[in-house]
Amino acid sequence: MQTPLTLGKFSFGMGDRFAHQAAAQLRACQLAAQHGVDVVPVWNKSNREHTFIGSEPQSVFGAAQAAVHRLGWRAPWHVDADHIRLETVDRFVACSDFFTIDVADSIAKPAPAADLAAFVERHPELVGTVRIEGVAQPFELTRSELERISGKYMLAVQDAGRIYRHVAAAKGEGKFIAEVSMDETDAPQTPPELLVILALIADEKIKAQTIAPKFTGRFNKGVDYVGDLAQFELEFNEDLAVIAHAVSRYGLPANLKLSVHSGSDKFSLYPIIRRALRRTGAGVHVKTAGTTWLEEVIGLSEAGGEGLALVQEMYGYALAHVDELCAPYASVIDIDRTQLPSAEVVAGWSGSRMANAVRHIPGHPEFNANIRQLLHVSFKLAAQKGGVYLDLLGRNEAIVAKNVTENLFDRHLKPLLIDLD
Ligand SMILES: [Zn+2]
Repeated sequence: MQTPLTLGKFSFGMGDRFAHQAAAQLRACQLAAQHGVDVVPVWNKSNREHTFIGSEPQSVFGAAQAAVHRLGWRAPWHVDADHIRLETVDRFVACSDFFTIDVADSIAKPAPAADLAAFVERHPELVGTVRIEGVAQPFELTRSELERISGKYMLAVQDAGRIYRHVAAAKGEGKFIAEVSMDETDAPQTPPELLVILALIADEKIKAQTIAPKFTGRFNKGVDYVGDLAQFELEFNEDLAVIAHAVSRYGLPANLKLSVHSGSDKFSLYPIIRRALRRTGAGVHVKTAGTTWLEEVIGLSEAGGEGLALVQEMYGYALAHVDELCAPYASVIDIDRTQLPSAEVVAGWSGSRMANAVRHIPGHPEFNANIRQLLHVSFKLAAQKGGVYLDLLGRNEAIVAKNVTENLFDRHLKPLLIDLD
């Protein structure tokens, strides 16, 4: 049998809404390689994003492949069908080799009672005191607690199994990387819940290589983490221990690792994740989502002229349509509207003033997280500009690419993974 397609230890999920920055993103991975760290680039774009922009999944593959050729990249790279479900997966199958199977919507929906009873019967090791290497306080699970947890997640995992087998039937088992994601839900999954979820995944015979739980705290789009850092650290470390345990106990793929759907720019979590990776030797997949689009905004601002004018125009429009633009993202943004300057004020800004307002350097006197979040959810406005926007990107390629690469390398890869040991 051929060796199954295996995801490397460190991988980065990158969004590229308008399919123009793949080379600049790949350049950041090249810089990491020059520092001795192999980072596998994974280009991801969700069905929702394709719908908003009017693009096809094949375009993500095309842009990635062109970047790989242009930069002479010989290491692995992947294209992620991001947050797919059974009803949306089909148009991603041919051009993706990584599938983020999103089953959050099925959490807490009832599974067949007989399946549930059989699972609990099959797993006496999950009842009582569960000792896991690396977890200081053993988990205490009563039988009814195990019934509650498995009841909450069984249907979701069964759904994941249906999607997994659907993809496997089309592409062949071992020809794709599977991630199970449960992050787009309100309540975080605790480490004991993760353990039960992994047992369910193993029983469902899903060869998951990454698992994306919902972590504690708020993961707002494009801005830093809001939550209890000590609690996050405890849970993250226990999750790593749970995964290592589940791999050996349930025969899940040896490279199974955590996937952090960061919503981009969770800078205050990076030292915690870095410490954990250093201590355990574990790998990680970090999805940075769509802030590349904001680097385009920053680059066009710095370019001045028509680029800056377009950014200022989009800001004015976004400000006037703030409710409508924010509605689909209400649960993942926190905008203080009193801190949004008027369109007239912003129209008078220089390119560097505009860029500084958007560029995510916490503590920078001109940084404005409210403007940043508003523009982050306003990418549809650029999509509506169509050729005008893409033409500006083309004409200002160098300055935009510089911002894209620097952002990914200096603010993400470096603090997380460079000089880890
Ligand atoms: Zn996600």
